[in-house]
Amino acid sequence: MKNIYDNIIIGSGLTGLTIAKLLSSKKIDYIILDKNKDAGGRISTNNSTRYNLDEGFQILLEDYPNLGIFPEINNSSFKRFESGFITKKGRSLYKVLNPFKNIKGLFFDNSFPGFTLKDKYLLGKLIFLSKKYENQEIPVKKFLKNFGFSPTFVNDFFISFFQGVFLDNNLNVPLKYFLFIFSLFSKSNVSIPVNGMNQIVKEILLKLDSSKLKLNKEVVNIKADSIETDDGEIFYFKKLFCTDPQIEKLIDKRLNQNFFKRISYNSVQCFYFLAEIIDVDDRFIYLLPESKNITNMCLKKLKDDKFIISASSLSMEISENAIEKEILGYFDNTKNIKFLEAFKILNALPSNPEFFNFQNKSFYQYSSNIYFAGDYLSYPCLNGSIQSALNLVRSLSK
Ligand SMILES: Cc1cc2nc3c(=O)[nH]c(=O)nc-3n(C[C@H](O)[C@H](O)[C@H](O)COP(=O)(O)OP(=O)(O)OC[C@H]3O[C@@H](n4cnc5c(N)ncnc54)[C@H](O)[C@@H]3O)c2cc1C
Repeated sequence: MKNIYDNIIIGSGLTGLTIAKLLSSKKIDYIILDKNKDAGGRISTNNSTRYNLDEGFQILLEDYPNLGIFPEINNSSFKRFESGFITKKGRSLYKVLNPFKNIKGLFFDNSFPGFTLKDKYLLGKLIFLSKKYENQEIPVKKFLKNFGFSPTFVNDFFISFFQGVFLDNNLNVPLKYFLFIFSLFSKSNVSIPVNGMNQIVKEILLKLDSSKLKLNKEVVNIKADSIETDDGEIFYFKKLFCTDPQIEKLIDKRLNQNFFKRISYNSVQCFYFLAEIIDVDDRFIYLLPESKNITNMCLKKLKDDKFIISASSLSMEISENAIEKEILGYFDNTKNIKFLEAFKILNALPSNPEFFNFQNKSFYQYSSNIYFAGDYLSYPCLNGSIQSALNLVRSLSK
C-alpha cells in the first residue's frame, strides 16, 4: 500500500511543531518525520547523567510575542531569573539589577564600574525609543558607539551579555533584531523549565496526536512528490515542509537550486559541573567580560550547597580542565567540583543576515509543493522559528 500524505513535515524542532500545531488546529492531516530519537531538534535536554542538562545554555523570554500559540508551555515549572546580571571585574563580583524592572536597580546594586549616569540615561532612552532606530542599516557595535555609550559599557555589558545570546562577540545581527531582543530582555521575565528546555517540547507534544510523529526516520532522498527514508520507506506528499536548510542537499538534482549553500552557523560549547558552593546567588546570569574562555555562567541549586554550574564558551578548542580552573577562581568557597558533561554544538545559531526575515515572509517556497521554514529564514531564536512557521501556514490559506 502506498504511503500518501497531504502534508509531510521534515523536522520536529519548534518550526515543525508549530506547522503541525497550526495544521492540526485546522483539522488538516500531516505527519512529522525526524531523524533523531527525540523530538525538539535544537531544544534538546540530555538525561545521560542524573541531571537534565540542556545541550547548550538556552533561555525562554516569557514575552516572546509568538509563544501565545502554545499556552501549554506554561504547564512546565520554571526557574525564573532576576532581571539583571552578576559580573566579575578584577577580583570583585558586582550585582546589577535591571532598573527598568526593579526600581532598586536605580539606587542600589548598580555599583558596576563603568556604568556611568550617561550610560544609564542612554539605556533608558534606547529601551523606550528602540523602534525609532530599528530601520537604520548599521552594524550593532557601531550603532552603540554612535549612540554615545561609553566603550567600557559597550564591552562589559552589551558585548559581554549579547555575545552569549547571539553566540558571536561581534554582535553581527541586523540592528532590528538586536533591538527586538534588547528590548525584550529589558522588559520580559527570563526563565528555564526546571526539567530543562526540552520540557516545553514535551508539553507541546501532549497536545498533538502522537501517532503523527515518526522519530528515527531520516529522510535521505527527495523527489518532486515523494521522499525516501533511511530504512527504504517511500512517502508520497502533496505538500512538503522542510525545516532545516541542510535538507536541500537531499533534493533531486533536477529540482535542486543550491539555494541554501551559503548558510553558516555560530557554534558554542557548554560545560556542566557539579560543585558545593557557599554563599552564592543562583538567581542571576553571570557575565565575565574579562574572560577569554567563558561567555556566561549560570547556577542551578540542587539541595543544600550543591549546584550545577553551566559555563558556555564560544571557543571550540577550550577543555573542561581550563574551564574548571577558571570557575574555581570565581567562587572562593567552592568544594568538590566534578565535571559532568560537555556539549559541542557546531550548528547552534544560523548566522546569515541576508536570509533573515527573508523577503519579509520568513519562509521560502522552493517549488510548487515544497517549502522551507525555520529560524534561518526568520530570526535565530525560538520566536523566529514560530514566526517562520506561522507566516508559511498563513500563506497557504490565502
Ligand atoms: C546552544 C543553543 C542556544 C540557543 N539559545 C537560545 C535562546 O536562549 N533563546 C532562544 O529563543 N533561542 C535559542 N536558540 C535557538 C533555538 O533553539 C532555535 O531557533 C530553534 O530551536 C530552532 O528550531 P527549528 O525547528 O527551526 O530547527 P531545529 O531545531 O534545528 O529542527 C530541525 C529538525 O530537522 C530534523 N532534520 C534535519 N534533517 C533531517 C532529515 N534529513 N530527516 C529527518 N529529520 C531531519 C532535525 O533532526 C531537527 O530535529 C538556541 C539554540 C542553540 C543550539
